[in-house]
Amino acid sequence: MTTTQEIFRCKCCGHCCHGESTVSITPGERAAIADFLGISQSLLLERYCVEKKGRTEMKVTGGHCIFYGDDGLCMIHPVKPFQCRRWPLHPGILDDESAWRAIKADCPGFDENAEYEEVCRLVREKADSGC
Ligand code: SF4
Ligand code: SF4
Repeated sequence: MTTTQEIFRCKCCGHCCHGESTVSITPGERAAIADFLGISQSLLLERYCVEKKGRTEMKVTGGHCIFYGDDGLCMIHPVKPFQCRRWPLHPGILDDESAWRAIKADCPGFDENAEYEEVCRLVREKADSGC
């Protein structure tokens, strides 16, 4: 059986932290990030977050998430949101092979010979492990 590392290995290129928006964060994630930074949740919201259509997202600054560091690493890695921890093994892949092809085109971490079925297996394993 092909291993996760053979199918996907993050290259830490930072591409997924760039763009015009970031992921939304839950109240629990908000509390964890504020705690990690040693600030109040209200200050976190004011300084680092933006409200969009009823959801709280991390701000974008300089074309990337506000928590993307100058060293190319996530500044809140131990408490980064679930959607960041899970990326690029997104559950939407399971319903739509074209979704995986689009993600693969943007993420150099996938082995170029990775098969759709193998990637789906990884997505399911990730879901089962709760991470
Ligand atoms: S785009 Fe892919 S390889 Fe690059 S940092 Fe994100 S997950 Fe890792
Ligand atoms: S929280 Fe970290 S991993 Fe998530 S988008 Fe921001 S910099 Fe990237």
